[in-house]
Amino acid sequence: MKLSIIVPIYNEEKIIPELHRRIIKSAEVITDDYEIIFVNDGSKDNSIFQLQSIASSHKKSFYINFSRNFGHQIAVSAGLDNCKGDAVVIIDGDLQDPPELIPELYKKHKEGFEVVYAKRENREGESLFKKISAKFFYRTLSSLTSIDIPLDTGDFRLIDKKIVECLKQMPEKNKFLRGQISWIGFNQTAVYFNRDKRKYGKSGYPLSKMLSFAIDGITSFSDKPLTFVTRTGIFLSFFSLLI
Ligand code: UDP
Ligand code: MG
Repeated sequence: MKLSIIVPIYNEEKIIPELHRRIIKSAEVITDDYEIIFVNDGSKDNSIFQLQSIASSHKKSFYINFSRNFGHQIAVSAGLDNCKGDAVVIIDGDLQDPPELIPELYKKHKEGFEVVYAKRENREGESLFKKISAKFFYRTLSSLTSIDIPLDTGDFRLIDKKIVECLKQMPEKNKFLRGQISWIGFNQTAVYFNRDKRKYGKSGYPLSKMLSFAIDGITSFSDKPLTFVTRTGIFLSFFSLLI
């Protein structure tokens, strides 16, 4: 299969019809050989019924249904574990990531890039708090890690099958996919876009989830402080021995 599109869904019932229509339109610009995998992450609204009806009327659309809310990163991982595409797109299900960018991501993949991530040029309609905390988080993380994790970039991206295979082998329980993908390597490039505001519903990332996501990112990738402490320890032991 040429293309898989993975869409995590948490309480997006009002958006699903338009989302589905726009994803199909973009996928068909690229190929007929594609699949759309929705992952219903324990939605409390009618999202699952929408997904069931989509899957029964459109042969290229499928869904995975979680028994409860496990979180965005686990939902995307379930999609990755079950997709068949040579190129795999991860896209949010609230239309903040425009499906119309998918052909552009695919074009870069054809040029030879294994990871094409969509970088946010601006974030329409987000609260000032979200904008500032996100900027602060990405910059703190980048100062603590030796891995080149792109700033202001979410999980909206296209990845090659090779990357999907590597991700499946990584045993992390607390996933931080955007960091893991950077760590894996290969040829990576960016495509820029303006992030729209949510059309309906509200963010599934309240402060508590945002914090736990940030902590997962920082604890998994902050190798610089560990190296600093280790080196200081060795230096102090040596210095004490001399004295
Ligand atoms: N999402 C999910 N599980 C969650 C929270 C969110 O699958 O526990 C999905 C959500 O439906 C959307 C994507 O993950 O497709 C990004 O979430 P959201 O838009 O709420 O985050 P924000 O854009 O506010 O950071
Ligand atoms: Mg969103």
